[in-house]
Amino acid sequence: MRVMAQMAMVMNLDKCIGCHTCSVTCKQAWTNRTGVEYVWFNNVETRPGQGYPRRYEDQDTWKGGWELNKKGRLALKAGGRFKKLIQIFSNPKLPSLDDYYEPWTYDYETLTNAPLQEHIPVARPKSLISGKDMKISWSANWDDDLGGSAATSEQDVLLNEVSEKIKFEFEQTFMFYLPRICEHCLNPSCAASCPSGAIYKREEDGIVLVDQDKCRGWRMCVTGCPYKKVYFNHRTGKAEKCTFCFPRIEVGLPTVCSETCVGRLRYIGLVLYDADKVLEAASTPEETGLYEAQRNVFLDPADPRVIAGAEEAGIPRDWIDAAQRSPIHALINTYKVALPLHPEYRTMPMVWYIPPLSPVVDAVRDTGRDAEDHQNLFAAVESLRIPVDYLAQLFTAGDPKPVDAVLRRLAAMRSYMRDINLGREPDDAIPEEVG
Ligand code: SF4
Ligand code: SF4
Repeated sequence: MRVMAQMAMVMNLDKCIGCHTCSVTCKQAWTNRTGVEYVWFNNVETRPGQGYPRRYEDQDTWKGGWELNKKGRLALKAGGRFKKLIQIFSNPKLPSLDDYYEPWTYDYETLTNAPLQEHIPVARPKSLISGKDMKISWSANWDDDLGGSAATSEQDVLLNEVSEKIKFEFEQTFMFYLPRICEHCLNPSCAASCPSGAIYKREEDGIVLVDQDKCRGWRMCVTGCPYKKVYFNHRTGKAEKCTFCFPRIEVGLPTVCSETCVGRLRYIGLVLYDADKVLEAASTPEETGLYEAQRNVFLDPADPRVIAGAEEAGIPRDWIDAAQRSPIHALINTYKVALPLHPEYRTMPMVWYIPPLSPVVDAVRDTGRDAEDHQNLFAAVESLRIPVDYLAQLFTAGDPKPVDAVLRRLAAMRSYMRDINLGREPDDAIPEEVG
């Protein structure tokens, strides 16, 4: 066992209201500069939707393509050596500015100065860069008002197809928000793909950073990150990314996104993990429990053997105490309610999510009781509006069982808390399978 410490985050998706305060305050703090206008270290996506940059989850269908190599790592699709060389030098997986968005404003002048006419003029979006009308309108959360339905869970559905489907399947529509930052992965492919050795993972707390002096602007990190959370600064010619607000963390302050989150849904803290298990967990086949393997990398910070290992590794005593107080290990390993985003990318992401339980529809309609009523507990989970399969595609590489277990646990917790809050005797009859 080789004990190491890592900063990590858990976000409770039921509490996100999609206000984008986190994105805006992060931008004000870190990317309010020329060259990075299009960059959101923190962005909030509407799901189902295409994400930012759009269709970043469909990289295996992009030109060149990704596949898992024999060691279970993400690699460019096999081809002849020559073809691979061309792929590497032409960097075909790089998203274009259209896939992020071109910063724009609205043509307010036309709106206010147009002569009186039959129809009200429209404020058309125009590029802040060229000043011309935008050909394609797209932004970090263009999907915001669209939502989706069970039928749109395929990530490669294009925007207009989604809209068509919504028209016909209105009753099945659902949406929720997914805030995203860099995952500060245990097995960061951005660092592995950097030819200049500019990206590094801090030994003391695992925060992944770009050394601006060493970066030569190859942009292989942008290609190499499956979450597309490294960005290219067009002014400096260097890569930039979320820093987990390390200057704030170092003086005991939370990240800007956590501190300003309106929904109070972000939990941050230190976790201890077994560095010897990382690569084995990252390459566990999906059918033999990829998600479980990733969860089992975390160590119990209260276990005397782990404490001894941490002390031997030189982790300061107050850091071990901080890991014991941190909610992260409890949410992931004790209560088992948090799941990783796309564990199948195998970079071992360190931002985990409590999946959304709401909204529950049929349970209320049929019985007058909702998910917080213990008599309706599991019926409620079974009639969730957000399909479990859709959540499984995001959080457990398609395996619905762990997602279902988390939702049942969350429903049981709500039921218990309702009883407490109403001064009723909590129901002991919650089945053991809830955990
Ligand atoms: Fe690197 Fe991407 Fe992982 Fe962040 S999410 S550490 S940029 S591979
Ligand atoms: Fe969601 Fe919090 Fe960001 Fe608002 S500030 S969008 S509630 S994560």
